[in-house]
Amino acid sequence: MARDSNCIFCKIIAAEVPAAVVYEDDSILAFLDIGPLADGHLLVIPLEHYTRLTDVPPERCAQMASVLPFLGRAVLEVTKSEGFNVLLNQGAVAGQAVPHIHFHIIPRRKDDQLGYRWKAGKYPEGRASQLAAAYQAALAHHAS
Ligand code: AMP
Ligand code: ZN
Repeated sequence: MARDSNCIFCKIIAAEVPAAVVYEDDSILAFLDIGPLADGHLLVIPLEHYTRLTDVPPERCAQMASVLPFLGRAVLEVTKSEGFNVLLNQGAVAGQAVPHIHFHIIPRRKDDQLGYRWKAGKYPEGRASQLAAAYQAALAHHAS
């Protein structure tokens, strides 16, 4: 299984670095984020090292996604939160600090001051259909 010897999450997988593990199976590990945005903030990672979501084979991605409902229910139960955000940052520009992909599951409560609303834009006339056509053309070439 691919690993990167400099990667902190690969070291957690290999038990070379401690972590508060909450779930593990043949392909996935989930553990507490060491710098939680909220009590009970989880990280969900593939055992295989991938830096970018866009490099993950669909079946591996499906395995990662398949544990989200189950882990989400545990988050709600254990943290007594009312909801959660699932977040994946790809690229430094998007806030990715650890180069081993991970879903964050961030428990949310009313008035927790975390916020989540980004400033929504508005398409000028014609831009949305232009973009949709560009996406359709790109996806026709790159669909896997
Ligand atoms: P991101 O900015 O999306 O790459 O998120 C990286 C996350 O990994 C941050 O929320 C960190 O708090 C968390 N993190 C970094 N090192 C560790 C570690 N050794 N154990 C648990 N979480 C970690
Ligand atoms: Zn790694």
